[in-house]
Amino acid sequence: MSRRDDSKRYYEKHKKRILQEARDRYANMTPEEKARLSERSKEKYRKNPEYRARIVAQATDRYYDNREKILSGRDKEASSQYGRDYRVKNRDAMLTIRREIEATDECKLKRHAQYIVIKALKLGELVRPDVCEDCATRCSVEVYHDSYDEDKLVDVRWLCRSCARSRALLKPHR
Ligand SMILES: [Zn+2]
Repeated sequence: MSRRDDSKRYYEKHKKRILQEARDRYANMTPEEKARLSERSKEKYRKNPEYRARIVAQATDRYYDNREKILSGRDKEASSQYGRDYRVKNRDAMLTIRREIEATDECKLKRHAQYIVIKALKLGELVRPDVCEDCATRCSVEVYHDSYDEDKLVDVRWLCRSCARSRALLKPHR
């Protein structure tokens, strides 16, 4: 048994109390302390790809575990209004993050790959199907690259949004 397994077991056993204590600690913080904590996690999320992948994987699991409940209880109008308000309120921060993402090598490779695919589509060298290769759903499929190597740029998969996200989550970080 490694130390990590030990602490994981301890956590599972006392999960309820540990989470309650964390909630209490958070509730007792001053607004400044809360803001500092939130800044720190945002920073970590932005700069640490492993942390980001872990958070996204946890959120995805939580979503699929509770999918029925979430979708049935959701007020569609209210949640899209929330989305609109959020985007208006956080416009600058979202733009900054978007710009930082676009400036990464990974993203430049991705844009270049998309450009090559669009060109191949226009020339008729590639044809966009209307069925997802992974789940066979008829939908508007998006292009998915397993590799951004120059000789594999037209070697693409056509996937629905959800299958493309699942594959991207499993992709090792380059
Ligand atoms: Zn699919």
